[in-house]
Amino acid sequence: MEFPPHVLKYAPWSISKAGVIERCSLRFDMKYGPSKVKEPEIEDDAARVGTAVHAALEYTLQGEVVRKAMQYAAERAGLTSVEEEKLHGFKDQVARFTERMERMRKKFGVADSMIYIERKWSFNTEFKKSDYWDKKTLFRGSVDYGVVTRENDLIIMDHKSGKEKDIATYEPQLRSYCIMALTNLPNIRGVQTAINFIQTDNLVWNKWVSAETIEKEYKPWLVDHLTASCKGLLSEPTPSPGWWCDWCGYKPTCPSHTGVSRGSQDAE
Ligand code: SF4
Repeated sequence: MEFPPHVLKYAPWSISKAGVIERCSLRFDMKYGPSKVKEPEIEDDAARVGTAVHAALEYTLQGEVVRKAMQYAAERAGLTSVEEEKLHGFKDQVARFTERMERMRKKFGVADSMIYIERKWSFNTEFKKSDYWDKKTLFRGSVDYGVVTRENDLIIMDHKSGKEKDIATYEPQLRSYCIMALTNLPNIRGVQTAINFIQTDNLVWNKWVSAETIEKEYKPWLVDHLTASCKGLLSEPTPSPGWWCDWCGYKPTCPSHTGVSRGSQDAE
């Protein structure tokens, strides 16, 4: 299993970074290319509230009471009073998920030392555990919540605060979690992933996969996935407009939206 040079050149990867090059090579070039420019932030209060809900869950899953967790999360995210109101709209979901996780930990015999909250994991080109910040790291990501059961299976939950979608939409991300899990916890028997759709309070489970499946199917899949996603790196950066432009911080200066070509912008 070998990663092609154009993939290695822009490592470390994550599924969201691969999504950028897959959709638009111009955005990728501006964000990660040789003359990168920091991507301007988009005003998005839903995303800011979503980040705060993540933080609130992080605190409650570590044992904090819900009221204080919401307060700390609002402070950490620097929410406005209107955004804080929206955050409080998630209070019951945060409480219910936390209680559910407590019950699950008891049911599956999860030891305190086997709980991973907002855990950063990474691996190198040989699919070996690596330092998250090491330049030789190939892939990295952060797991919202993971527990290892008494049967030695890892359960990974990812929180989503936006609209509920089919779990198949998240398959690349969930597969990448499975690979990160096995490279960082090589003795696990298998992995089961799930999405916690916070708005609808719906925990949607994915199928359990064995360590063998991750080894034999998911690792080669990642090589193919990154290679296919990175096709745009083999030619000149080009704008590719689509629904994703609404989430692109470069939109105000993008030739596809301003009608001004990139060359003439550079010349100014
Ligand atoms: S606005 Fe759209 S087309 Fe332009 S750089 Fe961003 S993603 Fe690409």
